[in-house]
Order: sequence, then C-alpha cells, then structure tokens
Amino acid sequence: MSRTRARTAAVVGAGAAGLVAARELLREGHAVTVFERSGRVGGTWAYDARSDPDPLGLDPAAPGAVHGSLYASLRTNLPRELMGFSGFALQGRVFAGDPRTFPGHREVLAFLDAFAEESGVAGHVRLRAEVRRLRPLGPGEGWSVEWRGDAGDAEEVFDAVVVCNGHCTVPLVPKLRGIENWRGNHMHSHNYRTPEPFQDQVVVVVGLGASGVDIAREISKVAKEVHIASRYTQDRVGKVDIYQNVWLRSEVDCIQDDGKVCFMEGSAVTADTILYCTGYRYHFPFLDVDDFTVDDNRVGPLYNHVFPPKYAPSLSFVGLPSKSIVLQTIEMEARWVARVLSGRAELPSEADMAAAVQEHNRRMEAAGKPKRHTHVLMPGWAEHIDWLAAQVGEPPLEARRRNMYEKALRCIWTLDERYRDTWDDDEDDDEQEEEEENKCI
Ligand code: FAD
Repeated sequence: MSRTRARTAAVVGAGAAGLVAARELLREGHAVTVFERSGRVGGTWAYDARSDPDPLGLDPAAPGAVHGSLYASLRTNLPRELMGFSGFALQGRVFAGDPRTFPGHREVLAFLDAFAEESGVAGHVRLRAEVRRLRPLGPGEGWSVEWRGDAGDAEEVFDAVVVCNGHCTVPLVPKLRGIENWRGNHMHSHNYRTPEPFQDQVVVVVGLGASGVDIAREISKVAKEVHIASRYTQDRVGKVDIYQNVWLRSEVDCIQDDGKVCFMEGSAVTADTILYCTGYRYHFPFLDVDDFTVDDNRVGPLYNHVFPPKYAPSLSFVGLPSKSIVLQTIEMEARWVARVLSGRAELPSEADMAAAVQEHNRRMEAAGKPKRHTHVLMPGWAEHIDWLAAQVGEPPLEARRRNMYEKALRCIWTLDERYRDTWDDDEDDDEQEEEEENKCI
C-alpha cells in the first residue's frame, strides 16, 4: 500500500475512539468522514435499555442485536480526571447535571456530545451510516468503503481508513466443563441492565473485572447468594466480610452431573443463574483484507495494536487495547495515526513492523500469557502510553495520572462500592493502599 500523505480519511464508528480520531485527523489537515451506524454519537456510552434476545448475545448479526453493554446504574470506574481528552476535560465542567467524581453514564455521553460539537467533529459525522465492507483497491489507490444509509447502499473511495467500531459488544463466553449438564439460566453481562430479575436467586458471577464486581455487588442487594468465580481470587476465597451474601470462589472447575457449579477449591453450589462477566470478542465483519485475522481474540498482525504492517499506514485500528486509561490511550493512538498519515511521524518498514509483532507475540508466549490477552495492556499499560507519546513527541504519562489509575484498580478490587463517593484525588497513595488492604477482604 502507498505510504504517501493521506488526503481523505474514513473513520468507522463515532464512539469515543472515532470522535477523537476525527479530531486528530482534522488537526493534521485531513478531510474526514465519520460513518456511524446508530442514530447518535457516543457509542458504548449511549445507554440502551434493550438487551439481545439471546442472553449470551453470541450472534452480533442476529435481528435486534444491541451494540451497548452498559447497565442502568453504571458509574465510571475511573475518576473523571482520567476520563477526558487533552484540551477537553471531563474534570472541572458538568455536562449533564452529574458533578460526581465517578459520574453516571449520562454525564459521559453528554461530555462526548459536547466534545463532538465543540471540536467541530460533529459536522463530519454521518449518522445511520453503516460500513458494510472495507477493501483495499490496490497499491496507492486507497480503500473502497461500502456503506448503507437512509438513502440505500453507496460506495466511496478514501486514501485511508481508521477502524473505531468498538470492542465491548460481542460476548466472550468460556466453555465450562460439563456445561451440557446446566439446566438453569445463563447470560453475559452484555445483556445485564438491572438487578430485579435476580430476586431471591443464587447467582454465580464468572469474572472479577470492573463490570463483574459492580454487577455482583448490585445483584447481591436482591439475590439470595452471589458467588464470584475467578482465577484471580487466589487466597481471598471465602465469604466477603462486608456483605451478607457474597462469596469469592476460585475458577469454575465444572458443572457436575447433578447441575451443581463446582469451583476449583472444591466447593459447589446449586445456582439459578450463571452470569458471565468475561469480556468481549473483537469483531470486524466488514473487513475484507488478506493476511489479517482475529485468532483467539488476537487481532493481527498489528504493530503496537494499531497498524497492520501490510496495509500501514492507510489502514489503522484505534481503541483495541484494554486495561489502561482508556480514553488517553485512544487519544494517543489517534494522534499517532493522524501524524503518520500526514508524514509528521515515521513508521518502520513493513518487514520491521512484522518482526516487531512477532517478537511481541514471542515474548507473550515466553511469559505464559494466553493469546487472548494480546491487547490487554496489564501490567505494561503505562509503557504503551509512553511509547505512543514518544512517537508524537510528547512527554510520558504524568506520575499523578499513573498513580490515580492504579489506585482506582485497587479500589475496584476491594469490592467496596464506597470508594466512588469517598475518593480523594489528592490523598496520599501509600496511606490509601494500606487502608484498603486492611478494609474488607
Ligand atoms: P464504542 O463506544 O463501542 O463505539 C463504537 C461505535 O462504532 C459505535 O457507535 C457503533 O455504533 C459504531 N459502529 C460499529 N460498527 C460500525 C459499522 N460497521 N459502521 C458504522 N459504525 C459502526 N472506559 C472508561 O474509560 N471508563 C469507564 O468507566 C468505562 N466503563 C465501561 C463500562 C462498561 C460496561 C463497558 C462496556 C465499557 C466501559 N469503558 C470504560 C470502556 C469504553 O468502551 C470506552 O470508554 C470507550 O467508550 C470505547 O469507545 P470506542 O469508540 O472504542 O467504542
């Protein structure tokens, strides 16, 4: 593919990633068109009370399939200081009447609406415009974008395409041993909205990420028992002191012949529902390119999670990594893409990028990390931001933000919901850490 300066760029998706990608591309002088298949900007942050007809949500092409995965009560898991963009902060301004440090989803959506308007990006967004197929036209000839809008199907050609279609829609559901013995309900957190359906139930929540913790805690207010199963509970297995009816369990070992859910530590429960909070699959149904795959949730090959060496720089992906300060990571990726396209940042040769990807994968394997964690930035999340910053000539992540993010992670893991309302931005971090260790589990 051509490595010349791009003049026209298509962005797929108008969530946080697509919006900030568009801003960065515009700043670099590119002509930008953002395609958004829904009727508004904001992506994930536009709460959708509907859920998929299939509780596991396994078929994103099914009629009525829903993009969003937010629950009604959702508040951010990061303080608002970590949820803005440079030059357009969420901190210090109230967008939808919710000034809390960890605001509800409506506040974030209103922030994104305001960002789109005030940055000038809104004028470049086509709503109800779904990209159906993306394909390269040949060396130097750009990309064909086939899309469907209110007026029917159309095709346009762009010099470059930035894919920002989000990755919290298609559930990743582990196959539990003995699942054929399961006769109860099951669903994925993608379809969780409110706790009422779990009234008086025994619920096994699989997964201890931010959503798993939030949902387990919320369900515990109405359920009989909640058992959180995770490989990360380790020496914390047992009843959670601060709740009457919540237990931490190790991983699910199997579903027994009698339908009981059996955990690795040897205990077993008779449950009504298994609720998978086990993350999402990357999915690019519109992408028609060679030598590019999603294999066990590894998207690639991708140079530093963004550029496929064969098609760089005219094809890029913004927003793939998880477990980081998401919006800052997205912004830095977007800036890198925009600068590379305008010739103000350099990429290595195709061969060198491919070699770097191979080396990254080899290191992961050597460290025993599963393939599906390729884009999970923990523990090197800050290094990715620093590396991106270096590409565009900016300073590394400030210590304050790094500490704040790590403190937020520790708070999530305490399972104590009060952290959102007792948070002190300037509290001494070491002191906080000690207090939390002593607090509840
Ligand atoms: P999305 O917001 O999903 O946007 C993708 C957009 O692409 C959508 O508008 C979609 O309609 C559009 N699209 C998809 N396919 C097509 C197509 N073919 N053609 C045209 N348009 C298309 N992050 C935080 O920083 N803090 C939090 O507290 C936090 N909490 C979260 C809680 C939950 C439950 C979830 C699911 C996520 C949370 N996140 C949080 C992460 C969140 O995903 C990111 O903050 C961010 O919104 C991701 O933006 P995105 O643009 O990559 O994806």
